[in-house]
Amino acid sequence: MSILYNPPSPDFADLYARFDAPICDFDCGKACAPFNPTGKPFCCDICQAVPAAFRPEWDFLQKNTALWHIWRGDECAAETTKPEELRAETPEHMLLLACQGPLHCQRDYRAVSCRQFPFFPYITSRDRFLGLAYEWEFETSCWVINHLEAVTSLYRRQFIQTYEALFALWEEEFDSYALHSEDMRAYFSSQNRRLPLLHRNGGYYLLSPATERIERCDPLKFKRFGPYTE
Ligand code: SF4
Ligand code: SF4
Repeated sequence: MSILYNPPSPDFADLYARFDAPICDFDCGKACAPFNPTGKPFCCDICQAVPAAFRPEWDFLQKNTALWHIWRGDECAAETTKPEELRAETPEHMLLLACQGPLHCQRDYRAVSCRQFPFFPYITSRDRFLGLAYEWEFETSCWVINHLEAVTSLYRRQFIQTYEALFALWEEEFDSYALHSEDMRAYFSSQNRRLPLLHRNGGYYLLSPATERIERCDPLKFKRFGPYTE
């Protein structure tokens, strides 16, 4: 007899209601879109970022909105993404999605991956959820990454509470971000840089990827990239 793995699922209506604070006090999409040739905010441009949803989250979205469909891999005419590679990198408990685009966004039905962007939960090598780190691949495109001082404390708190709730339910989610954090340490080590961290204690820090020692820093002094250096 086989036993089906059926992990508990959060109530996504409730989870979304508790994770709806804007990341900063204005629409950051207006700050980054002018630097994207398509004119779309980078994180809402399927050629730049492919959103993912938890499998039970996809069940919830399908029942409530027609905003999303399963990502086919042909949505970006420029073919900048490699569908097979991206699917192989996607954890088993998640699905890649595409929405109808920023002109048709439904704020209440944004996936967790939209709400968390450009951040992910940073996990130390000793399995401690320390705070928010950013998706380093977007250093030259995302305005928020270049203005971490603008992230509101309400957003930071909601992010942390959301991921604490998800980690309590799904160990694989914690493991997947532990691996992602390890990749970030490897990348920053190769660059000989410390990585910026929005600590769960409310402070801003730089973390050494080799020792994981942290030092409190003024976020206005963090390195800036691409068009945001001027
Ligand atoms: S989170 Fe970053 S990429 Fe997304 S809209 Fe804001 S500035 Fe642009
Ligand atoms: S649902 Fe909205 S926030 Fe999410 S990718 Fe689409 S346009 Fe962007």
